[in-house]
Amino acid sequence: MQIIREAGAMQRYVEEQRRIGRSIGLVPTMGALHDGHLSLLRRCRADNDVAVMTLFVNPKQFDRSEDLARYPRDLARDADLAAAAGTDAIYHPAMEEMYPGGYATYVIVEGLTDRWEGATRPGHFRGVATVCTKLFAVCRPHRAYFGQKDYQQSLVIRRLVADLNLGFEIVVLPTVREADGLALSSRNALLGPDERRQARVVSQALFAAQAAVRSGERDAEKLRGDIEARIRSASLAVVDYAAVCHPDTLEPLTHISGRAVALAAARFGAVRLIDNVLLDG
Ligand code: AMP
Repeated sequence: MQIIREAGAMQRYVEEQRRIGRSIGLVPTMGALHDGHLSLLRRCRADNDVAVMTLFVNPKQFDRSEDLARYPRDLARDADLAAAAGTDAIYHPAMEEMYPGGYATYVIVEGLTDRWEGATRPGHFRGVATVCTKLFAVCRPHRAYFGQKDYQQSLVIRRLVADLNLGFEIVVLPTVREADGLALSSRNALLGPDERRQARVVSQALFAAQAAVRSGERDAEKLRGDIEARIRSASLAVVDYAAVCHPDTLEPLTHISGRAVALAAARFGAVRLIDNVLLDG
């Protein structure tokens, strides 16, 4: 497996692969790999001739500098895990390579980014859309893989790829969870023992809403309120939002009459967690 640090070298690598007719799959990550990332890498490996992972902790998508400073980093471990999952190349640019002095260009996806993560983390999606556009320009994938865990992000990326005519396929894979339901996240390692015990309440609240819909509940405002109350019942939880929305527009629903998504974000101490489940009314 190669680790490539320069955009020019990465572009030459993928152009050569494309020239000889190979398909390129791309998994963008910020590292600190866990089984959620590995499920994307394995699927990317299976679907494509060349499996590329990017590893870049993107400062432009962090709205809080403490969160960026604390973000776990371990290149040697990540490289071993990526290689074991069959990755052919890691693109791991330095900060100066990605955003050299004078950098001035940003990508803004309107509408979809107004609510939820966009509202609670100013600038976050501008950072995500900008870094992904740059990674797509360098790696020129035929397919790119994202996790449902970051549901709003997956919609933003689909919008971006369609709007800018980037012409490759976006594949979104299910959320990988701990045994107690907690969605795997690089930030889970930062939870203290009590926070970790209580963090399961987020997925429990969302799964309870999913079960309620399966049993016939159609009142989206009641479902939303129940999710929020259940998360709040954990003494260490601070809820940023709980929402029941249209799965494509993320507009809040009052009534469930088809597909929907339940989203939640909550802080446990200094660690902010997000999760979601699809509801099928
Ligand atoms: P990150 O390194 O957090 O930027 O995540 C890189 C990719 O992995 C994103 O597409 C995430 O949605 C995805 N991902 C993160 N956590 C999970 C998970 N628990 N299950 C599936 N995919 C995930």
